[in-house]
Amino acid sequence: MQTGVRKVGTQLLVSVIAVACGSTDSTPRPSGLVAARVVAAAGFSWRAIDLPHRGLRLYIQQGTVAAAAPRGLTESVVRAQTDVLALLGEPLILPRPSANLPADPAALFFLGSWDDMRRLTGRPLAGFVQPGEATAFFVWAPDYRAPLRHELAHLYTFQRWGLPAGGEAATWLVEGIGVWAGGPCLGQSSDALAAGLLARGRLPSVEDLSARFRDLEENVAMPAAGSLIAFIQVREGIAGLRARWRSGPDLLLPDRALSAAWRTHVARIRPAALDIARVLQEGC
Ligand SMILES: [Zn+2]
Repeated sequence: MQTGVRKVGTQLLVSVIAVACGSTDSTPRPSGLVAARVVAAAGFSWRAIDLPHRGLRLYIQQGTVAAAAPRGLTESVVRAQTDVLALLGEPLILPRPSANLPADPAALFFLGSWDDMRRLTGRPLAGFVQPGEATAFFVWAPDYRAPLRHELAHLYTFQRWGLPAGGEAATWLVEGIGVWAGGPCLGQSSDALAAGLLARGRLPSVEDLSARFRDLEENVAMPAAGSLIAFIQVREGIAGLRARWRSGPDLLLPDRALSAAWRTHVARIRPAALDIARVLQEGC
């Protein structure tokens, strides 16, 4: 996400989960390994909400405001899922290989606080997707906007498109799609934030984004990647992004002409900057 601190995770993060018994027998078991461990973790219990027509199961931490009145959360999730799948050009439910084979729902966990997120996953993050399974974790706290769209974009790109063929060199593509799907942050578009970076001489080149994405500051790398993805999407559509996802390191990067056109585009936009302290407090 567009913050100066790595508070928001990515699908690349690996969490350490304590395995212990904690949930009730009636809590539905998710199929993902980490999700199943979390459901069984000591000290946590869950209100599970099945949304089979959405391919989702929500696990809301018991004792939180959201568990007592889950309607707002459920509506937000459904809206985010609808938006993200539409952006990605993906159907709500994939055709099943066999009618007898029940499709496993994605498991989305909602924790009541940063402390609980840290205690459960070992990560002080606002949200992240567990690699290798359709499992995501979010902090869902009053007056905080969880990065639903950003993380769902990760979940569905990996679930539907597979691992990016470019490996580490595709990190800008993975995160850029997350930022693009996430939409504006505190009302500021990635383009405006990229223009702000350009005005301060800090907009990275596409080569830098590709070669050292994780070395760049998050509030530099994320909006730059989001702006670049939006630029490519307008020109090439989602098919262009998907083709890059499936391309090796040499082909996934925009060529010199496209890179130059992106910077010219950014230079025409009114620059903006983020109030990082506010983002950390409120989310995007
Ligand atoms: Zn991300």
